[in-house]
Amino acid sequence: MFERRLTNQIAIGDTVIGGDAPISVQSMTKTDTRDIKSTIRQIKELEDAGCEIIRCAVPDLEAADALAEIKKNISIPLVADIHFHHNLALKSIENGVDALRLNPGNIRDSDKVREVVKAAKTRSIPIRIGVNFGSLPPIGGIGKTGDFHRLADGVNKLAKDSKETDAEYNVVDHMVNTALWEVAILEDMDFDQIKISVKGFDVPMTVDAYTRLSDKVDYPLHLGITEAGTPLNGSIRSAVGLGTLLAMGIGDTIRVSLAGDPVLEVEAGYEILKSLNLRNKGVTLVACPSCGRADVDIVKYANMVDEALKKFDKPIKVAVMGCEVNGPGEAKDADIGIAAGVGRGIIFRKGQKVKVVPESEFLPALIEEMEKIDLESK
Ligand code: SF4
Repeated sequence: MFERRLTNQIAIGDTVIGGDAPISVQSMTKTDTRDIKSTIRQIKELEDAGCEIIRCAVPDLEAADALAEIKKNISIPLVADIHFHHNLALKSIENGVDALRLNPGNIRDSDKVREVVKAAKTRSIPIRIGVNFGSLPPIGGIGKTGDFHRLADGVNKLAKDSKETDAEYNVVDHMVNTALWEVAILEDMDFDQIKISVKGFDVPMTVDAYTRLSDKVDYPLHLGITEAGTPLNGSIRSAVGLGTLLAMGIGDTIRVSLAGDPVLEVEAGYEILKSLNLRNKGVTLVACPSCGRADVDIVKYANMVDEALKKFDKPIKVAVMGCEVNGPGEAKDADIGIAAGVGRGIIFRKGQKVKVVPESEFLPALIEEMEKIDLESK
């Protein structure tokens, strides 16, 4: 439905990014990376939820060392998240990570970036140039070292809305220029295993930044609305931001940043992609919101079905509807559906009425039908 902007293809471990590869869903661990056991446990939970790439913070050398053991115990590609110290990137490469994220806002010494690129080249691992509004270099400080503080240098005073032709230098210019500074270094070294992100909290600004960048480079883009908020607020903000970009054909991989369980990030990521028919994973639940017409507590059943269906991996559309108004239509359109009436519900399968069940059997009857579809597909 949406014409995807064609980007170069790269591989992070065995996950292919860009080109015509599926838009991948990633997350970041929230454990202390040095706590190897907890970090592996969290990554396993994320793997079960369908996470396709995982990133771990690397605040010090102990964390960089922990990556070796973490890598051995997980099955999805591991990305080291590097800020400030390029030696942490070198150590992470040594310890077997599948990719790096470098922040050009806080690693601004081009010689140090070159050292990292050289090491990344020897292992053929990609680098994400990860620009973030919260850690942009000071104005006039792109690619310049020194510890002058960005707040003193006016980044926060720059206009957020932008047109490239505007005379005034704005924050989108600054974000894009920061990314392009590092792109130039990498290209200069014939390194093309590049992915870029230009994340911010402000949705229109972030959309502008990605759109502008996408017009300038063919590298795959990692999308994110950063520090988006708690699960409800953050999912909505991310859905609006990422959804806008994805509908424009921009984006090769996504992360929903939530102040909550990272499993929710992965679930939200897939819901965004599924809403645009860009991925087709697991059960898609069509549930009516209920209203004064509903004959049963349909919200309760929708939540029960949502929970029970998490174990199914096959892409199936399930409808849980409260009455005869939209119920039969939606239930028939889904692979499996229930249209509830007074004390009973009609179960539909692929548009055909299968049976009528009493309210006490709504859930078991739906699960039975799901299992049949699941078995048939094996
Ligand atoms: S399907 Fe029926 S119960 Fe559900 S919202 Fe529509 S009218 Fe209300």
